[in-house]
Amino acid sequence: MARDYYGILGVSRDATDDDIKRAYRKLARQYHPDVNPDPEAHEKFKDINAAYEVLSDDKKRQMVDLGGDPLAPGGGGGGPGGPGGAGPFVGFQDIMDAFFGQAAGATRGPRPRTRPGADAILRLELDLQETAFGVEAPITVDTAVICTTCSGAGTAAGTHLATCETCQGRGEVQSVQRTFLGQVVSSRPCTVCQGHGTVIPSPCPTCAGEGRVRTRRSLTVKIPAGVEDGMRIRLAQQGEVGPGGGTAGDLYVEIHERPHDVYSRRGDDLHCRVTVPMTSAAMGTRLTIKTLDSEEAIDVRAGTQPGATMRIRGKGVPRLRGQGRGDLFVHLDVRTPTKLTSEQERMLRDFAKTRGEDIAELSKQGGFFSRMRDAFNGHN
Ligand code: ZN
Ligand code: ZN
Repeated sequence: MARDYYGILGVSRDATDDDIKRAYRKLARQYHPDVNPDPEAHEKFKDINAAYEVLSDDKKRQMVDLGGDPLAPGGGGGGPGGPGGAGPFVGFQDIMDAFFGQAAGATRGPRPRTRPGADAILRLELDLQETAFGVEAPITVDTAVICTTCSGAGTAAGTHLATCETCQGRGEVQSVQRTFLGQVVSSRPCTVCQGHGTVIPSPCPTCAGEGRVRTRRSLTVKIPAGVEDGMRIRLAQQGEVGPGGGTAGDLYVEIHERPHDVYSRRGDDLHCRVTVPMTSAAMGTRLTIKTLDSEEAIDVRAGTQPGATMRIRGKGVPRLRGQGRGDLFVHLDVRTPTKLTSEQERMLRDFAKTRGEDIAELSKQGGFFSRMRDAFNGHN
């Protein structure tokens, strides 16, 4: 009498291959001798394996459907497990799948050969004039680009990838060890195919199978007006092409602004220092200031003090996003003459006398300290 293989797996006679596999996995997890020490479970497990061996094989399943038993002695089949039952495992892979397959397959599986490329960064030195008003800067980039010989496939002309024989295309190999804790299954990437599941029998001679080659390219990057030191301009997909010709990463151009001789920059504002003689500061004067892109006349008011600041509106750096420009701040250094002719000294003495400033006394007694002493005396 033929055994009821469908009944053993608990599936209907019109079950699909997937139904059968799913049912087998479920039962195998339940009755595997390592999980279930009951001797009856062991027998049951044998039956389950036998049923799966038969029903997962189109020819054997057909025999069952015609009323035969491919595993029975003289039943016509004589499967690999021999009469009375399949071997301990239907197939190593099937039993692995029963315990780990679906979950593992869903999350791991072979590593794709084609992967996205990395971003690249490039430092670009610019003058203030260029960061302020923008520039089209030529740059040279060293990155991986797609191999034009094989268009990224990595295979020599007319050849194809082949399934890795070591891992059967799974990209990983699994091993089972028995330990005192029970059965431990470990899987690691296949070293033959580096986890890809495929091998390249004849690599492309240009890229040696990488699908990409390193090249030096020249590009022009458009720097907008108003960029600042440290900013990065992103050039989409101008970075590294990935392994297997994968989509290129982005290229970031990092702006480095060279220090300017005259102007220092704070945001969109510029600052500069201008020296005016003591007399001009006292009496007032008109100065011509060179800005980044024009000349501006500014009036220094009479009585201007050292450190005074004048603002020229809208003569700083153009704003990166939006309208207008920053301001230019002119810091005035009032210069005191360091050498005087005797005539100049006499004139300044007279000048001081008219203002009631006792210069002779101060200089004779050592300036600062005598003034300090006078200040203390004044308070005593
Ligand atoms: Zn492999
Ligand atoms: Zn190539």
